[in-house]
Amino acid sequence: MAKVDTYSCDSCGTQRKTANHWFCAHQSTMEIVVRVGQGKPPKIKVIVIQEWEDEYADRADVTHHCGLECLNKFVNRVLSGATASSGDAGETGES
Ligand SMILES: [Zn+2]
Repeated sequence: MAKVDTYSCDSCGTQRKTANHWFCAHQSTMEIVVRVGQGKPPKIKVIVIQEWEDEYADRADVTHHCGLECLNKFVNRVLSGATASSGDAGETGES
């Protein structure tokens, strides 16, 4: 049974079609240990970018982008602090 693609670009709203070169990305944080024993390690912001992968695209925290231009907008939003990293479930109005 073929799954119907209902993804749309999180930057421009374009509907995904099969042959497009789309990207998935999500924002996360990771701790890097600079020196052992110097208190809490700093948390750095990381952006995970992956070529389109259906299983990855299904993750709740993953954003979808129709190309490099829109992916770039997402990266800009994250780096400027405009994107919430948690608790933002987008348009699914569940709670
Ligand atoms: Zn787009």
